Amino acid sequence: MHVLLDVLEKAQKKGVAIGHFNVADLVLLKAAFEAARELNVPVLVGASRGERAFMGVDQIAALVRSLRGEFDFPIFLNADHTHSLPEALEAARAGFDSVVFDASALPFEQNVRQTKEAVEALKAIKPAILVEGELGDIGVGSEIHEEAPDLAKGLTDPAEAKQFAEATGIDTLAPAVGNMHGMLKSMVRGETRKHLDIARIAEIKKAARVLLTLHGGSGTDDEDLRKAIAAGINVVHINTELRVAWRRGLEEGLARQPNEVIPYKILSSAVESVKQVARSRLRLFNGDGVTREIVA
Ligand SMILES: [Zn+2]
Repeated sequence: MHVLLDVLEKAQKKGVAIGHFNVADLVLLKAAFEAARELNVPVLVGASRGERAFMGVDQIAALVRSLRGEFDFPIFLNADHTHSLPEALEAARAGFDSVVFDASALPFEQNVRQTKEAVEALKAIKPAILVEGELGDIGVGSEIHEEAPDLAKGLTDPAEAKQFAEATGIDTLAPAVGNMHGMLKSMVRGETRKHLDIARIAEIKKAARVLLTLHGGSGTDDEDLRKAIAAGINVVHINTELRVAWRRGLEEGLARQPNEVIPYKILSSAVESVKQVARSRLRLFNGDGVTREIVA
């Protein structure tokens, strides 16, 4: 049986991170799963509120469960950015392996109170579920932004992170360490990259002593990601890069076969395009040394 906490603890010991890819349809799910299987590394797929609404909470849970069972493979499902207890509980009941309870827009004391309440309620119905809390400002929207938001004031303070982790009982913390949801146009063009505050990550890890997730990993400098993982990041979220690849792949599929109407023939280009991104990110998160092809 595959258990997310075991997988994360094992990865932490090895000094590698788990890739988290958002999925909004079967193209993204297939691409993330196939990339992970080819490299034989565990993978976490996530569904945000909009993605859950589109796919169906129970339906995405059933899909991931069936992949894990049929292929005996460590693929796990995260409810990304839930903002209320009812939606967090809905995901837990559906069988999600982890929940991001995001009250980071609220003042510190309210964030603590609501996150603690969520941890207790979620663990009461599913003790093995992992709960992630969020502290600091990492912006909103995994999409292409015109301008960079000013997130400098919202960076996570290590002492607050410690207090937050202890007071709430979270398994995982999502800090603000120079990361940001979405990508700028210049990042999509490959002209600029995000940079991370590595020293802050190390301080937060030392103080809070919990698992750490890096949200908004798309467009981040490769070397910064390697250093962030070495400093204590356990999970890296990639969403916008996949969305860009999804769109490009779909456009290619349509352009290459202008008279085709069979969906799976058109969509295979999108699967391939997303898979390329997922594969290269998983390689990086797993120490670049991952070349083993899984025996089918
Ligand atoms: Zn996020």
